[in-house]
Amino acid sequence: MTKWNVDEFVQAIVSKTESQYEKKIDEATINEVYYAVSAIVSQEITGSWTKTKESYQKNNPKQVYYLSMEFLIGGLLESNLLNSGMWESCNQALVKLGFDPVEVYRQERDPGLGNGGLGRLAACFLDSMASLHYPGHGYGIRYRYGMFEQRFINGYQTELPDFWLKNPYPWETRRDEEAVYIEFGGTVHMLKRNDGSLECKYENTDKVLAVPYDVPVVGYKNQVVNTLRLWSAEPIFVSSQSNTEDYYRHLEHNHSIEQISGILYPDDSSEEGKRLRIKQQYFLVISSLKSIVKDYKSNVRKSLIHLPDYVVIQINDTHPSLAIPELMRMLMDEEGFGWDTAWRITTKVFAYTNHTILSEALEKWPIAMIKSLLPRLYMIIDEINERFCQGIWFDHPELRDKIPDMAVIADNQIHMARLAIVGSFSVNGVAKLHTEIIKTQEMKDFYKLYPNRFNNKTNGITHRRWLVMANPRLANLITETIGSRWIKHPRELTHLLRYTKNRPFLEKLGQIKQQNKKDLAKYIHKATGIVVDEQSIFDVQIKRLHEYKRQLLNIFHVIYLYNELKENPQLDIVPRTFIFGAKAAPSYYFAKEVIKLINTVASVVNHDPSIKGKLKVVFLENYNVSLAEKIIPAADLSEQISTAGKEASGTGNMKMMMNGALTIGTLDGANIEIKNLVGDPNIFIFGLRSEEVFNYYQNGEYSANETYQNDERISRILHQLRDGIFGQQDLEFKDIYYHILSTNDPYFILEDFDGYVETQQLVDQAYQHESKWLSKSLINIAHSGKFSSDRTIQEYATGIWRIEKQ
Ligand SMILES: *Cc1c(COP(=O)(O)O)cnc(C)c1O
Repeated sequence: MTKWNVDEFVQAIVSKTESQYEKKIDEATINEVYYAVSAIVSQEITGSWTKTKESYQKNNPKQVYYLSMEFLIGGLLESNLLNSGMWESCNQALVKLGFDPVEVYRQERDPGLGNGGLGRLAACFLDSMASLHYPGHGYGIRYRYGMFEQRFINGYQTELPDFWLKNPYPWETRRDEEAVYIEFGGTVHMLKRNDGSLECKYENTDKVLAVPYDVPVVGYKNQVVNTLRLWSAEPIFVSSQSNTEDYYRHLEHNHSIEQISGILYPDDSSEEGKRLRIKQQYFLVISSLKSIVKDYKSNVRKSLIHLPDYVVIQINDTHPSLAIPELMRMLMDEEGFGWDTAWRITTKVFAYTNHTILSEALEKWPIAMIKSLLPRLYMIIDEINERFCQGIWFDHPELRDKIPDMAVIADNQIHMARLAIVGSFSVNGVAKLHTEIIKTQEMKDFYKLYPNRFNNKTNGITHRRWLVMANPRLANLITETIGSRWIKHPRELTHLLRYTKNRPFLEKLGQIKQQNKKDLAKYIHKATGIVVDEQSIFDVQIKRLHEYKRQLLNIFHVIYLYNELKENPQLDIVPRTFIFGAKAAPSYYFAKEVIKLINTVASVVNHDPSIKGKLKVVFLENYNVSLAEKIIPAADLSEQISTAGKEASGTGNMKMMMNGALTIGTLDGANIEIKNLVGDPNIFIFGLRSEEVFNYYQNGEYSANETYQNDERISRILHQLRDGIFGQQDLEFKDIYYHILSTNDPYFILEDFDGYVETQQLVDQAYQHESKWLSKSLINIAHSGKFSSDRTIQEYATGIWRIEKQ
């Protein structure tokens, strides 16, 4: 790529706005400038993109394909500028032309093609694969409607459709020449060929065209540009209809096909058994496999027997696990392999990442649904199951009585996680604790059967987006202090450990946090009208709203503090600003109640002069990647308070640690690994451990009612909910009261409350020693390099994929 200096960039923007809009730069709108700059960057990337593709075609390295129903990529203009080495000159050029770069970048709308952590992980992985020179690509769906846009009306979440393609998306290229033709449903007939082999004939199928839209994935200053391929479903054009009825039926049919890539399911970690969802999954799987096999054939030109030497497919959770029977189908029905050879090939190609052990999130599909939608795939899954169960019966008699718990097909359902384990050569968890739970509890029978298949790959985040780009002040301070090598080698952030007692350095660190908080305070004021105390602790919980993540515990703490202050207005507490960001699945009633509660508490607390502004509660609407980028650099305290054993890893914890926030959290997910790195004095740990949680579930000895009776702080809060202290409308939170007590508090909010409050008091004390706090903050930053997704991808590459840097 050519190096751009500021004047060249100024020139390029001026001539682009002229050629694209026939406007002089001072007549151009900020939106037009956004498109002009995007076009310049796109052009700049195109050369490297072509070269990267050509080199893969020529050298035929083994490539990894990351299949995921979600890619939460966030804004691309700024990250493409950064990674292609044009960021600083673009910033300066825009300023020279009289535009605020931040405003220009804000013109881009986040493609909300994911729900939360799982989708964001996929995006961080793409960034790291390209930046580490690995030939790795993403395959996903180009939903016309992404994650809904959240608005609060009277404190309630409302969902607006996210038609993100209303304006052209400058980073995608439609590739008609790469479109593939696919079929759903219908009936299958097995015919005997003359040589005795079987042939499948399909009748009355629905025919769909899968059209790819490719998005470049730019490596950090290394000329590598990989591909994120997003599939769009389109009807196949059929010639004129003979009568009106047919015509309307035809239109309706076309509409139903477009629906396949119509909307993203806004359900985080719980599955709604929907036919459309299976169609979406199969659509991703078959389109991607066809495209992968087509490329293999045209580049490698060898029998598909050698596929595993050139292709490895990582499936992100079970959502794409139909790829396993689908590859079997292609190998047998289209390529003529027998079962055993096809199975040998297939099980060397797939690797599966497990993301959750929440039982409601484990996908199971009714047999009848798969049979009618994917009749041939059902036959294959049935055969996989049959052979798998027989294998246990004959070769592992010790597991015979476990067959009902292990069978791929059981209770009239297909268990997708079991299918994924049986059909993959690798099964990984996403943090050490999570992998241990998989091995010793959730999937322990499978672990006995395939001990070598299971492995851990602790998640990570791209430090380029989450530190260099989101927090340039901090990134610059780090570079001034230890040089810039850390950007390519994030583990070198540990060189900062030399400065933990260096006053001038810590002071600068403190000033930067202060400036970031000032920026966020400004944003909060503009977005909500709330004025927050910039000196207060910015206490942040941003993540999907879910009972196991326990936003309720957080707001109970706020209510408790408010009650204390009301009783004793002189109470000496450190002022705090509680910042929330969270979307609830539209069908998740309880989660939406919690949103309403937080908003109600906010309106009471924020408007009560008697507490003298010591507490503020801010719930920012529409949490997404770009909002996360604004909040995280300003966080002092990172809330990671899930019920132990429930959060597979968490990645929000890593982003905030990297930006100097201290964690308050349970021993769950990657919090444990953070604690082991930074040490006990630099993190605030409380609450039940996962073993204790499991024991409670097993022995039934926990009584929420007892805790509620015995702890006055808790009974007071629960009574306030029951009796409508916070609900302006009558008693609207009594459901929360009843829900917690009648379900015996399955997430142990009441049980962990005391430890949480006590630990929050320790946070207050620690925050008052400014230089000590800053030193702790620095220790967190210094150890955060381990949580760069570069480390994670390196582990996948050598431990699972066996691929080489190009
Ligand atoms: C990182 C991220 C998440 C995941 O957050 P957790 O705290 O790990 O649940 C979810 N949504 C967005 C937009 C993110 O950037």
